[in-house]
Amino acid sequence: MSLQGKRALVTGASRGIGAAIAKALAAEGADVAITYEKSADAANEVVRAIEAHGRKAAAIQADSANPGAIHASVEKAVGALGGLDILVNNAGIIRFSEVKDMALEDIDALLNVNVRGVILASKAVIPHLGEGGRIINIGSYFADRVPGGAGLSVYSLTKSALTAFTKGLARELGSRNITVNVVQPGSIDTDMNPAHGDFGPALKALSPLGRYGEVNDIANAVAFLASDKAKYVTGTAVTVDGGANA
Ligand code: NDP
Repeated sequence: MSLQGKRALVTGASRGIGAAIAKALAAEGADVAITYEKSADAANEVVRAIEAHGRKAAAIQADSANPGAIHASVEKAVGALGGLDILVNNAGIIRFSEVKDMALEDIDALLNVNVRGVILASKAVIPHLGEGGRIINIGSYFADRVPGGAGLSVYSLTKSALTAFTKGLARELGSRNITVNVVQPGSIDTDMNPAHGDFGPALKALSPLGRYGEVNDIANAVAFLASDKAKYVTGTAVTVDGGANA
């Protein structure tokens, strides 16, 4: 197992891609704390799945839009696991609206969760990371192009912000041998983007493979970046989008 003895915090991991990442890291031997906003029961199921791998686990309620809650969640994760080696900034939301119609509260929510939440979780975790530490951000293939139709400008902005943040942070932390990368998923079948939803056919058609990805397609990439096998990979984007941006 490639992550034996490592301790990870995955944000927004009660469902979807985050839950798959948390389980994949545990399967590779890591102890894993997760955050969630509302889904306590689902978060507790993820805890049980992590513990079934014989690993320590903790579920922490923390709204990624709330700076105090983010800081407290990192301290709770450190307390529960005895330290942190890996942060996966996965928590994210989507709001569809053309800019001319977009409500201020939706703009603020996207910026606060998808961008400020990532900055603040990283800021809180960095003092705890040692040699070989990892920060892995979950961006989007919409960071590179925005082919999904109107209404995705601000969501896409938040995800391309993570690409620049990843590069800058990789430069800040390289001297401590900490790597920072962003994984950019394509369309992955989750509650946020159900393959059988209204956008399903159009998004499927973007991929030369003609289908949505599965949560484990992203979790596998994250597990690789978290491992020692990826020790010379930093400051880059790993796009797992079934070729949608090809
Ligand atoms: P889901 O909506 O299916 O799950 C979101 C998860 O994040 C849930 O566990 C949810 O917790 C948590 N979450 C949402 N808001 C907050 C918040 N304010 N504070 C803390 N936790 C929160 O999303 P996906 O799994 O599809 O997406 C995961 C990440 O991947 C996101 O960053 C998304 O932007 C990105 N992504 C997804 C793609 C896709 O096609 N699915 C494509 C490209 C990128 P709770 O259950 O408590 O609500």
